[in-house]
Amino acid sequence: MPTERASFADRRARAAAKLRERDLAALLASPGADLFYLTGYQLFTSERLTCLVLARDGKATMVCPELEAPRAAAAAPDLERATWGETEDPYALVARLVNGAGGIAVADQMWAAFVLRIESTLPRRAFSVASEITRELRMRKDASEREALRLVAESADRAYARMLGRPFAGRTEREVGAELAGLLREEGHEEVGFTIVGSGPNGASPHHETGDRRIADGDVVVLDFGGARRGYRSDITRTVRVGRTIESEAQRVHDVVRRAQDAGYAAARKGASAESIDAAARRVIDEAGYGAYFIHRTGHGIGLDGHEHPYLVRGNREPLEPGMAFSIEPGVYLAGRFGVRIEDIALIDDDGSVRPLNRADHALATVA
Ligand code: ZN
Ligand code: ZN
Ligand code: ZN
Repeated sequence: MPTERASFADRRARAAAKLRERDLAALLASPGADLFYLTGYQLFTSERLTCLVLARDGKATMVCPELEAPRAAAAAPDLERATWGETEDPYALVARLVNGAGGIAVADQMWAAFVLRIESTLPRRAFSVASEITRELRMRKDASEREALRLVAESADRAYARMLGRPFAGRTEREVGAELAGLLREEGHEEVGFTIVGSGPNGASPHHETGDRRIADGDVVVLDFGGARRGYRSDITRTVRVGRTIESEAQRVHDVVRRAQDAGYAAARKGASAESIDAAARRVIDEAGYGAYFIHRTGHGIGLDGHEHPYLVRGNREPLEPGMAFSIEPGVYLAGRFGVRIEDIALIDDDGSVRPLNRADHALATVA
């Protein structure tokens, strides 16, 4: 379901209202999630400045290099463009579009090379991060975003189900990771973001860099992978065992992590604080005696960015609301031995209940 042009205009109108509330003059977004969210235009950052200037009165202009103008026009035909040629100064163009008093909000991931030039072209203005404006909007996914997240999650589920039929023993993590990446693409991903294959002791490092270790019979393997389709991201983790014999503690730890995830789901509903999901999952792991080995927060929001608000972490009292999508991903990491993590993306529905977007089997699957 493609997002209608009208909904991009509506997002810009709501962002502009927030600019007025906060006495900001403009929001500036270079290529990245905020730009895509506000315009539908997706491109990689390069040294040539592309920048949406959203003024507090709602007027939106895409400052873009002349050679990118056809792409910008195709992606966001309803936006005015201010194009600059190779020998012109794009920063002067941006400055000309910022009228009236007030500070400037810049996209969180804008390159310092751009921010510093913009700052010097717009002196005596306070600069802040655009997430102050966009996080409230982006956290609550609309119908088309929820659908996009569901489709990309299901695509990842299918890739995992097919991976279970592939051999593991005797192959390197890198080979398994490459195969998983291929399956993600075959199942509908347009971009593969990461394929973490943490085998044996490597699984005890949550963000292990998939490497040359050869997977052996008896290994426990953490598979954490994701990417994007139409800009919206997937992120799923399952833990598998290679062959029939593993150390008995691995199954026990997996049971604990699975119950922790169930507890996280049980706590997740409209109005529950983000930290209460973390607490519910953590309690199960603490009570099983593995509390010291659960070394990260329970989850993160997901959407156009792989990690975004809300973060399910102690200290975040933010209440969950319909439209919020986030991971629930408890884990236990036993250094030198193995790790176990189970991760799904979940969504708070309009009726206030939680809905899993990933439905791939949670059991400790046996692979060959
Ligand atoms: Zn992670
Ligand atoms: Zn993950
Ligand atoms: Zn995650």
